[in-house]
Amino acid sequence: MVKNQDFSRKNTDPSTIAFYSTLLNILVAGAKGILAWLSGSAALLADTIHGFSDTFASLLVLAGIWLSKRKSEAFPWGLYKVENFVALVSAGLIFFAGYEIVHYVFKPEKTLILGHFYSSLFGLLAIILAISIFSRFEAKKAKALNSPSLRADASHWYSDIASTALVLLALLGARIGYPILDRVAALIMVGVIAKVGWDILKDSMRTLLDASVDPITLDRIRNVIRRFSQVREIKSIQARNSGRFVFVRTDLAFGIKKLAQAHELSEEIEKSILKEIPQVDQVTIHYEPVKKDFLVYALPVEEDKKRLSDHFGDAPYFYLVRISAEGHTIQEEKILRNPYVREEKGKGIKVSEWLLQNGVDSIYSRKTFDGKGPSYVFSNADVEVIITEDQTIDEIHQKLTALEVN
Ligand SMILES: [Zn+2]
Repeated sequence: MVKNQDFSRKNTDPSTIAFYSTLLNILVAGAKGILAWLSGSAALLADTIHGFSDTFASLLVLAGIWLSKRKSEAFPWGLYKVENFVALVSAGLIFFAGYEIVHYVFKPEKTLILGHFYSSLFGLLAIILAISIFSRFEAKKAKALNSPSLRADASHWYSDIASTALVLLALLGARIGYPILDRVAALIMVGVIAKVGWDILKDSMRTLLDASVDPITLDRIRNVIRRFSQVREIKSIQARNSGRFVFVRTDLAFGIKKLAQAHELSEEIEKSILKEIPQVDQVTIHYEPVKKDFLVYALPVEEDKKRLSDHFGDAPYFYLVRISAEGHTIQEEKILRNPYVREEKGKGIKVSEWLLQNGVDSIYSRKTFDGKGPSYVFSNADVEVIITEDQTIDEIHQKLTALEVN
């Protein structure tokens, strides 16, 4: 019973929105490239390269998210190094493109007359509009999903609006008689390109330097998980840096058997980690119920401590027996006095809860429960209620210790 958290959230997954963002990046950079070619604007050419550098950067982040979701057994650490190698190469290419722009700007023989003014003007306005709509959508999603990487991406889009507006102003300036403004804007854009290249370089160096997350952060994650009492065991916990962000994967054993409750618990744990440790961007929780190597059965018994009682809440004693899962041998037996036998109200529920506290897995009863209380408590806790015709503890003993249990 292993369940992956990501499946249920596919439609609102941060990586889906990151994918759309990358797609828009490619479209915008492509459109700017065409406009640069039509107009001959150096600023637009520089902004095109800026756009493709951004695309490179976001593809690297997507690759990081994709890799972080894979099991490290199936995908050896070597792949993460490939990601870093690609980052280094693309940073190099970006710096080279920036250098080429500078070179182009200072070429004296180049004509400064820009063509296709109106296509460029309306093209750039359309691009600004598209980015504005998407970045607002992304910022909203970032808030809803509590995703730092989406938030960072949305604010990057805001800065891209500024750079596109700068190109637009340079275009207008060139139109009214200051063609040099196009070159100035191109040089500013080279600064932006260099920053993108530097960020890629810095992030990949960081990831190379601390591929695994620092022990303090790991401890904080562990402490958040430990606060949930139903978590019986933290089987493994892995965290990985991708740029500024941390991806967490953990295998847990829960002390609950019901799938719906386990799912709810895993979501609560995920939310708490995301909320309390801000640098964590994604949490993947795998869980399964704790495996028991024994089962505890409870039987209501009469005063003679031999015969089964027809009552449940009114039974004077309960006989509890612990049977090993393998071999069906009796590990422990005890007879407990029903502490609630004299209770006025809610006797059934109180007895049921008391049995749960004693670790009971199955109940034998001669009758179905009258009130809904005990049935509700037991079905909620996944405790099996077995209706039996047997009269005595001995008869049930024989069944339990036979190789086939019920
Ligand atoms: Zn940018």
